[in-house]
Amino acid sequence: MAYSAPRGTKDILPQEVALWQKLEETCRKVFSFYNYQEIRTPIFESTELFARSIGKTTDIVNKEMYEFKDRKGRSLTLRPEETAPVVRACLENNLIGTDKTTKVYYIGPMFRYERPQAGRQRQFHQAGVEVFGSADPMIDAEVIMMNVRLFEELGLKDLGVNINSVGCAKCRPDYLKKLKSFFKDNIKNMCEDCQNRFITNPLRILDCKQSKCQIYLDDAPHSVESLCQECGGSFDQVLDLLGDSGLKYNVNKRLVRGLDYYTKTTFEITSNQLGAQNAVSGGGRYDKLVEELGGKAIPAVGFAIGLERIIELINNQQLTINNDGAVKLYIAALGNEARKVGFDLINQARAGGISADMDYLGKSLKAQMKTADRVGAKYVYIIGEAELAKKSAVLKEMKTGEQIELEFSALLEKLKSETA
Ligand SMILES: [Zn+2]
Ligand SMILES: [Zn+2]
Repeated sequence: MAYSAPRGTKDILPQEVALWQKLEETCRKVFSFYNYQEIRTPIFESTELFARSIGKTTDIVNKEMYEFKDRKGRSLTLRPEETAPVVRACLENNLIGTDKTTKVYYIGPMFRYERPQAGRQRQFHQAGVEVFGSADPMIDAEVIMMNVRLFEELGLKDLGVNINSVGCAKCRPDYLKKLKSFFKDNIKNMCEDCQNRFITNPLRILDCKQSKCQIYLDDAPHSVESLCQECGGSFDQVLDLLGDSGLKYNVNKRLVRGLDYYTKTTFEITSNQLGAQNAVSGGGRYDKLVEELGGKAIPAVGFAIGLERIIELINNQQLTINNDGAVKLYIAALGNEARKVGFDLINQARAGGISADMDYLGKSLKAQMKTADRVGAKYVYIIGEAELAKKSAVLKEMKTGEQIELEFSALLEKLKSETA
């Protein structure tokens, strides 16, 4: 083979696309129910946007960005996540303000230079939402409930909702001090990344996946124990709202997420059916980011879903997705004359709004029936020499095997009546 897809990328082949389309359609439907509108931003942005928002010392910015110079020497980066681009777009186009609530969602590819492994690609896909303008804990509860609702619509099972609060600019410095004094004696035994995090953002030590660091994490102080009155109050309210709605959640005091911009609520939804990489979505509040990127002090909250993981779960659970795109009529024709009639009939069918196809390789009847089965055809109409003479042929329903004799001229009416 001459070429292969770049490492960490994957072709989504025609037989898988039906599932992707169904997933995207369900995201759009659920987000619209909650009055979110779609936004589409460029695949690449200025590098500075991500360095500024995600944090210059994060793994994403330091190791994982697809960063390049364009022909004028400008530093650009393929988007590794979509929150910063959405904030940029909303600010640039005056979509957000302190006096209104703006709700948007997105679906699309993201890019991170990571070691490819099961469920982790260098080009991967996310769907997500962002809400701007409200600091009300009800909005935190709404996005979490909406995320759960989406997963329920998709039929996903064995999910866990994990929630935590990482505090705000007022109470976080205190907590970071506590973390530092907790780790200071052992940091030399921890991984290199953690040693850097100790200096730049000790909060992210709690997110370390290295086994040598795990033993030092267990007794680390928790952010919820250092929350200021305001953060504590809104965290309690979020939990109350979720509890009142009947949603089951688990307070996970170690949940900090790998991005610098989170404040107050953070959450993650996990699945027991995925291995170590078990988070299927995550998000939280980021009340400082809009200001950080040049806007007013506008509070915000959002989440992102890893679509590859959802696809994996749907496949694991063998949930079936209706293949609405399948061909309704397949014409099996033998001989040149019959093929001409068949060609005319499939074009009439298409013009009448019925999806149709036929064999273009002059295959045997048996092979044509096999193809009809493979493409998921609902009916096959079989035309040979005898059929040409009487202008009538057999229409076979593939699923039931039921057969009826139908004149050429009656075929379309029959299929159209089926559609109704
Ligand atoms: Zn606080
Ligand atoms: Zn570590």
